[in-house]
Amino acid sequence: MQLPPVPTAQVSKRATTLNRPRVGVVKFASCDGCQLTILDLEDELLALTERFEFVEFAEATSRRSSGPFDVLFVEGSISSPEQAVEIARLRAATKTLVTIGACATAGGIQALRTASEHEAFRAAVYPAPAFVESLAVASPISSYVTVDAELRGCPIDAHQLVELLTAVTTGRRPQLPDQAVCLECKRRGLECVVVTRGEPCLGPVTQTGCGAICPGIGRGCYGCFGPREGANVDGLASWFVDGPALGGLKREDVGRLFAGFTGAAQPFRAVTDRLGGRPQIPLRPATAHGPEHSEHTPPVWGTRPEDPDARR
Ligand code: SF4
Ligand code: SF4
Repeated sequence: MQLPPVPTAQVSKRATTLNRPRVGVVKFASCDGCQLTILDLEDELLALTERFEFVEFAEATSRRSSGPFDVLFVEGSISSPEQAVEIARLRAATKTLVTIGACATAGGIQALRTASEHEAFRAAVYPAPAFVESLAVASPISSYVTVDAELRGCPIDAHQLVELLTAVTTGRRPQLPDQAVCLECKRRGLECVVVTRGEPCLGPVTQTGCGAICPGIGRGCYGCFGPREGANVDGLASWFVDGPALGGLKREDVGRLFAGFTGAAQPFRAVTDRLGGRPQIPLRPATAHGPEHSEHTPPVWGTRPEDPDARR
């Protein structure tokens, strides 16, 4: 979506515009990719800053604010006790809270682990896990606070964000797509990879918004916009296993198909739980060169004198 250009006269009034909605963009456990997608809106960014006052957006400006916010975009999942407290504070300071991306709306990749895998991951990743506080499960924002709207995707489609901001300020309902990826695929006139290549595709049960990128390059959709409401996820999974079209796929391969960016979203997770195929990530037993630390003090990083690497 292209915002109309801002007339020069309006630009000069920018500093004196008093009633621009206050917008914030914050992150929790995430890769920042959704925030970067907002910054990719090169043609619309100036117009956006004329119409909205970005009071908090650490990826873009050193200006900081703890609220209040008219609209707050939240990226990332809740993965630590501090984040659980902070999202409650932000909710109280916000009129319209919008979650952006698979991490915030479905938990993201980090939510695929189970509570029982949590300790193994901590021990493998951090040399001194006792000093790292993290929750046993990573959860979407909606598990903690009320969410007013969500923008799906990994990353999001930034034009949906512009549409949502425009709708909020004009008091209308945002027009966000809610069909299956198949519809977009057919609109683009793409060949169906299931029919022509015998490849599995999650398009029939995935919410659109990506422009059918994956079928467009000849591969199946892997569900990064998450399950479409009311989709027969179980039926598609069973058809991949038992149906004649793909020659019957292994159960765990089908389960793994659903364990992607939005694999923690319940309809997808239920398939993986039923069919198996949870991703097995090889965990190192311990980090090779951990920090020096005692039980009561934080770790001190540095190369050990006897470490052969120190002489290189
Ligand atoms: S949804 Fe994807 S792009 Fe966005 S923060 Fe999470 S991992 Fe990064
Ligand atoms: S390629 Fe996938 S998204 Fe496209 S029509 Fe076939 S099943 Fe649907």
